[in-house]
Amino acid sequence: MISKKTLKLSVKSLKDFAKKQLPDEHLIELDARDECPIEIVRHMCSPDHLGIQLLFVPEEYGGFGGGAFDVYCVCEEMARIDLGVATSVLATFLGSDPITVGATPEQKKLWLSRIAEEGILFAYGATEPDAGSDLGALQSTAERVIKDDRVVGYKINGSKQWISNGGVADAYTVLASTPAGPSWFIVEKGAPGFSHDEPEDKHGIRTSNTAALSFSDVYVDADRLIGGVEGQGLIQAQAVFGYTRLMVAAFGLGAGWAALDRAIPYSTKRIQAGSPLSEKQGYTHKLIVPHVARLEAGRACIEETAERIDAGEGSLNTEGAIAKYMATEAGNFAADASIQALGGYGYTHEYMVEKIRRDVRITTIYEGTSEIMEMTISRDRWQLHLKTRGDHYHEQARQLEALDARHKDVGAGVAALALHALAEAMERARAARLTRHQHILLRLGEWTAYAESAGCLARRAAMAAEGRLNEKANMRFDPPALAALSRIFAREAALKVATEGLRWVIGAGGVSETGITSLEAALGLPAIHRAQTGLMADMDQVCDVLYSRVEKHVAVPA
Ligand SMILES: Cc1cc2nc3c(=O)[nH]c(=O)nc-3n(C[C@H](O)[C@H](O)[C@H](O)COP(=O)(O)OP(=O)(O)OC[C@H]3O[C@@H](n4cnc5c(N)ncnc54)[C@H](O)[C@@H]3O)c2cc1C
Repeated sequence: MISKKTLKLSVKSLKDFAKKQLPDEHLIELDARDECPIEIVRHMCSPDHLGIQLLFVPEEYGGFGGGAFDVYCVCEEMARIDLGVATSVLATFLGSDPITVGATPEQKKLWLSRIAEEGILFAYGATEPDAGSDLGALQSTAERVIKDDRVVGYKINGSKQWISNGGVADAYTVLASTPAGPSWFIVEKGAPGFSHDEPEDKHGIRTSNTAALSFSDVYVDADRLIGGVEGQGLIQAQAVFGYTRLMVAAFGLGAGWAALDRAIPYSTKRIQAGSPLSEKQGYTHKLIVPHVARLEAGRACIEETAERIDAGEGSLNTEGAIAKYMATEAGNFAADASIQALGGYGYTHEYMVEKIRRDVRITTIYEGTSEIMEMTISRDRWQLHLKTRGDHYHEQARQLEALDARHKDVGAGVAALALHALAEAMERARAARLTRHQHILLRLGEWTAYAESAGCLARRAAMAAEGRLNEKANMRFDPPALAALSRIFAREAALKVATEGLRWVIGAGGVSETGITSLEAALGLPAIHRAQTGLMADMDQVCDVLYSRVEKHVAVPA
C-alpha cells in the first residue's frame, strides 16, 4: 500500500497530465475518428513520463505496490478523464494479473519488472467468439511440444474476441486449454503465427483499441506457461476477480460522476421559466439526487471491499461483484440522466455527456456482465441463506439495528428492513422452490446487491460521523450529507426488495391468494412504507449540498 501523500501526488499528476494531453476537444476528435491515442497511453504507462503503472506493480518488482484502495482511487480518476484511455491502462493490469497471482518468481521478476521499468503494454486474452460469459466453452488450445521426454514448449491455436489493447500491446496473456485444462500463456507481439484484426468499430470507448486475436501454431517456450503448471488458468482468473471487478466498479463510479459533474453546473446556468433548472425540484429530484445516492451506495461498497481486501481478507469475489454491479449500473443511469438534464445540448457531442453515456455502457458488459454479477451474487448468498437456515440476512439486519441504536440518522434501521425483507424473500423462494426459475435466482442477486449496499452506505455514514473513514476515502460529502444520502438509498433499497420480492413470489406461484396479506407483513411492507417519511426533506438537503446552498453542508470537490 502507498501513503496518502503518494496517492494524492499520483492523482494530481494524472489530472495535470490529462489537462494538457486530453482536453475535451481532443477527446471529442479522437472519439469521432475512432482512434486510440496510443502515444498518450504509452506516456501514461512510461516510467519516463506519468508512470501510472508503477502504482499497480508490487514494490519488489520496481513499482509502488498500491493496494486495492489505491487502485480504486486511481481508476475512478482515470474514468473521470476518459473511459477509453482508462481501459487501455486497465488492460495492462488485467493482463498482468494472472502473472501477479500465479506466476513463478522468475516470471514475475521478468514481466512485472518490464511493466515497471519499460512500460510495456499488456492485453488480457480470455474471451473468444464462442466463449464469453461462459469461459468454460474455451476452444483455444495449447498443445505440448515434447523433446527428449520433456515439455519444452506449447503450440497455441485459436482466436480471441474483443481484446482491449489487442492491436497495440507488446505482450498478451492468453488463456488456452492444455491437456490438463485451461492455462495462461504469455505471447509477445510479433510471434510467428500470431495476428490481430483491425480495431472494432464500437458504440463507446472509441479511444480504446479493441481487436480480435488469431493464433495459428504460435510456439511459446515452456517458461511462458504462467506458474509452470498446467490447468491453473480458471483458478488464477478467479483469484483476482474481486480486485479487478473493483477497478471496473470504480470506472462506473468515475464516469457516472463525470456526467453529473457536468449536469450540475449546467443546471445552475440554464434558465427556463424564469429561474435556473437547479431550482426546480422536479428536475433535481429526478435527474440528479437519486443518481448521486446510487453512486454513493456503489462507492460505499467499493471502499468497504477495498479496505477488506487490503486487510488480507482474500479476493472477496462476491463483494467485488456487488460493488461492480451497483456502481456500474448507477454510472449508466447517471450518465443517461445527465443527457436528459442537458436537454438538446446533452444530445450533441460538444457537451461530452453523450460520449460518457456511450463509454460507460461497457462497464456493465466487460469483466462480467451485470447478469453474470447477479448470478454470482445470488449463488453465493443463497448458500449462506441455506447454511444458516434462513438467518444470514436477519443477522446482518440485527447488526444494522444495533448500529441504528448508536447512530439514529444514518439510515441503518431502514437498511435493516431491506435485509429482513431479503431474508424473507429468500425463504419464500426456498420453501416454494422458486429458484428453479432462473429469473428469480437473478432477481435475488439484484435485491441482495441493493440490500447489502444499503448496509455498506449506512456503515460508511456512521464511520464518517465518528471521523473514522479511511484517510484515503473520498470526502466529497460531509457526515450529515452522507447520512442523508444513506437514508435516501436505504428507503429505495428496502422498497425495492420488499415490493419486487412480493411481486415475484406471487408471480412465480410461491404463495396462495390467502397467503398474500401475511407475505406483505413478513416482508415488512407496512414498516417500509412508513420509513419513506422524511424522504423529500432528505432529498432537499442533498440538493442544497450539491448546489452549495447551505454553508454547513458545503460540498468539498472530490
Ligand atoms: C469493448 C470491449 C472490451 C473488452 N475487453 C476484453 C479484454 O480485454 N479481454 C477479454 O478477455 N475480454 C474482453 N471483452 C469481452 C467481455 O468480457 C465479454 O464481452 C463479456 O464477458 C460478455 O461476453 P459475450 O460478449 O460473449 O456475451 P455473452 O456471454 O454471449 O452474453 C450476452 C448476453 O447474455 C447474458 N448471459 C450470458 N450468459 C447468461 C446466462 N447463463 N444466464 C443469463 N444471461 C446470460 C449476458 O449477461 C449478456 O447480456 C471486452 C468486450 C468489449 C465489448
